[in-house]
Amino acid sequence: MDATTIAAAIGGLRTAGDIARSILDLKIDSEISEKVIELQRQILSAQEAALSTQQLQMELLETKRQLEKEIADLKAWDRERENYELKDIARGTFAYVPKPNPNTSEPFHWLCTNCFETRKKSILQAGQSGGSNSRDRAYHCGLCSNTIFVPWRVAPTKSE
Ligand SMILES: [Zn+2]
Repeated sequence: MDATTIAAAIGGLRTAGDIARSILDLKIDSEISEKVIELQRQILSAQEAALSTQQLQMELLETKRQLEKEIADLKAWDRERENYELKDIARGTFAYVPKPNPNTSEPFHWLCTNCFETRKKSILQAGQSGGSNSRDRAYHCGLCSNTIFVPWRVAPTKSE
């Protein structure tokens, strides 16, 4: 049943309820009245069933919409991650770096490995502090608390 069918059923049941009510306004004997009241009860329970079906259908449509978005996001991420490769940038310090691509004007950069594993693209930003070893420069991830330390001579450039 699609949304229009359910809405039509709800509308039809409302009309049936109105007709049953108008029959009760007529001069009818009590036996008929009892039957019409029974009919009203049946109409009411059918209306309740139709309304809960409508509610369920709206919930299913919302779930479908969310899943479609999730699939689209996953596909987009799969395409995006193809542009990167994991690289040892300095002494066993890893980052995801762009694969060689002559078609991009994007400046070379490093991506946080923590965030990359959770399908987030977060560019490591150069900091000033050298940490415990002043020959090193810190690179911070703005999304998670990840910080890597690399020698000053190592920087995210294409020549690396
Ligand atoms: Zn991160």
